[in-house]
Amino acid sequence: MSPRLTPNPDNRLSVDLAALEANLAACRALLSPGMRVAGVVKADAYGHGLLPVARRLKAAGVEALAVGVASEGRRLRREGIAGEIFLLMGARPEQAPQVVADGLTPVCADLAVFQALSAAAQSLGRPATCQLKVDTGMSRLGVAPDQVLDLLDRLAALPGLRLTGLVSHLATAGDPASDQARRQSAIFAELLGAARAKGHVLADSSLVGSGGALVPPPASPAAPAYARLGIVLYGGLPDPAATGRATLRGVMSYRSRLLAVRRARAGAAVSYGATWIAPRDTWLGVVPVGYSDGYPRAASNRAAMLVGGRLAPVRGRVCMNLTVIDLEGIEPLPRVGDEVVLLGNQGQAAISADQLGDWAGTISYEITCALGAANRRHYQG
Ligand SMILES: *Cc1c(COP(=O)(O)O)cnc(C)c1O
Repeated sequence: MSPRLTPNPDNRLSVDLAALEANLAACRALLSPGMRVAGVVKADAYGHGLLPVARRLKAAGVEALAVGVASEGRRLRREGIAGEIFLLMGARPEQAPQVVADGLTPVCADLAVFQALSAAAQSLGRPATCQLKVDTGMSRLGVAPDQVLDLLDRLAALPGLRLTGLVSHLATAGDPASDQARRQSAIFAELLGAARAKGHVLADSSLVGSGGALVPPPASPAAPAYARLGIVLYGGLPDPAATGRATLRGVMSYRSRLLAVRRARAGAAVSYGATWIAPRDTWLGVVPVGYSDGYPRAASNRAAMLVGGRLAPVRGRVCMNLTVIDLEGIEPLPRVGDEVVLLGNQGQAAISADQLGDWAGTISYEITCALGAANRRHYQG
């Protein structure tokens, strides 16, 4: 494992692989019969660690994995991980020989890339599996819907190319009230139907991610198809509106210990910028975690941490390696060395990645990516 930025032994980031597996089971129960799961492990598995997560998901029976770029797929292959691996961001033409040799499935939209894949397939003497990305309304990647049927016919003529599916991504999945997801799913269903009527099987097509799994859009593609599941596997929600659709467990937790406990006098200013002034004499705790550890600075004066099973509000600005919390009212008064939970459970209380993201004005995805990138990870379960 690569060296991590924070040597502070009091800070501990844990990844609960049993919770990951439980979340997979909970989400599978929501999918229509025959739907397969691609476990999304891009961005170092949302900060949880590419290889341990990929291995556990495979052992738990996911039918495919999805990464962002070819180097991630290559790492998985080098570690002996077999089976379908989608490259969600496709590939450049010059990467085609390696991608085909690794047996990866890039999701592409550019004819030049398909041609390069076909050429690589011919020179390597093995088929190049790939998928076609369609922009049904996210305006990010993919060809326009009106180009798809023509393009499918042209791709069918490229030797060695095995096009296994149409792929699109919903901009507003997870929000049951969204009209956007309804429109996008209708476009996708119509395209897939028309393509299949022309003889293109496209059995590994996929439209929904976590949002569409929790809140299926009206025209979800029927099996055979994949759901590309990311954040729900890690215990986060794609949208607050999807709350309550599945019982999910937090996979990542982050704990520290009180570095100092001190009494601030009424009127004392706390941390950089003096953005919090003690309204009365106040017990404060100092936690050796800051934004260099992946704890969001935007959580300044907004988040809370668990100490003694109680929520202790963050006071003043989050610093590079330190954060001050308010211990008033926590009985008995916490002591230096006591456990502080920044993410995860303490007794009956818990702070979810969604909650921490909300405090920081962001989303669970960014919270786990940042914490996971900055800390050594410990695996359990
Ligand atoms: C990241 C990503 C996913 C997974 O999204 P979640 O909301 O985490 O489930 C699915 N599809 C594509 C194309 C993605 O980029």
